[in-house]
Amino acid sequence: MKYLRTLFALAIVPVLTVSTLRAQDNNGGSIPSHHDDGGFRNTDPGFEKPAFTKMAPWVISRLISFSSKPVADIPRMYNDGAALKQGKPYTITWVGHSTCLIQFEGINILTDPVWSDRIGPVGWLGEARASEPGIAMDKLPPIDIVLISHNHYDHLDEKTILTLSHNPNTRFFVPLRVRDWFEDRGISNVEELDWWEGVTYKGLKIICTPAQHFSGRWISDNNTTLWCSWVLLGKGRRLFFGGDSGYFSGFAEIGKRFGPFDLALLPIGAYEPRELLKPVHMNPSDAVQAFIDLRGKKMLGIHWGTFRQTDEPMEEPPKKLREEVERRHLPQESFLVFMIGETREW
Ligand code: ZN
Ligand code: ZN
Repeated sequence: MKYLRTLFALAIVPVLTVSTLRAQDNNGGSIPSHHDDGGFRNTDPGFEKPAFTKMAPWVISRLISFSSKPVADIPRMYNDGAALKQGKPYTITWVGHSTCLIQFEGINILTDPVWSDRIGPVGWLGEARASEPGIAMDKLPPIDIVLISHNHYDHLDEKTILTLSHNPNTRFFVPLRVRDWFEDRGISNVEELDWWEGVTYKGLKIICTPAQHFSGRWISDNNTTLWCSWVLLGKGRRLFFGGDSGYFSGFAEIGKRFGPFDLALLPIGAYEPRELLKPVHMNPSDAVQAFIDLRGKKMLGIHWGTFRQTDEPMEEPPKKLREEVERRHLPQESFLVFMIGETREW
């Protein structure tokens, strides 16, 4: 089972002024309930691991599919970075998958940056990229902050992180026990946080918040590092970055503590087969409910159109999102889907 869980992970992976807001323990000062013996766990009462007998054949079929390069027709636009040099206080650019560039009150932030052509532990064992990144790395403005949600290969990419680390002013924010991965590569400009802990950096409050997911990059490290979402509280706006997550009660708690959010970046892809992936990946319908729970004002659908990680067609998530918004009679203009490379103000 342990090996299969690792293969599963590979398959779907698919000027410091720190004032710590060390939050209360979830457990009255004792060990927080999401800390497990030597690792971490999901705590939502409804969380159930997928059945082993169903998971095994699917994982094997996904690994076999890595041998063929995926083809997807995802809308994209050319981005030369010019719009990012205009000094606008609030812009968002979708680079692809969960990689976004956020300009937030003068601070440039990247979420889960991945620019590599293939993701996985070694070159041949991993998912090839179906859509090129929406902007070249050398067209980015200087990056102040990198947010990492967890250590799956589609969110933590070695080549990209090493390139970003060449800038000594870039600071990496990671969930608990992910700092070791950076230190092993000689990167020390890293802030490691547990759920509900926060820091203030360059005037921006950065808070590590829960997600319902899992972690692991190889055979022996399942759930030994934490997974999370992130909250950014500026002077004038609030933003939520969802990382990878199944739908869970944590969204309502985050919304209660830190909402309403002007913009919520929520994953809408990597959801089929539902009977296996529902606990750890939302579908568009789940994401709409999470957005409501978070008290979001606008949502951008991410984590789609870039890597063919799961069984749904790569172009499907935005269509399902539109259908769900229509079904619930919600305003379509609140639910954004970008072209790869697109920049908008938020
Ligand atoms: Zn992912
Ligand atoms: Zn993941």
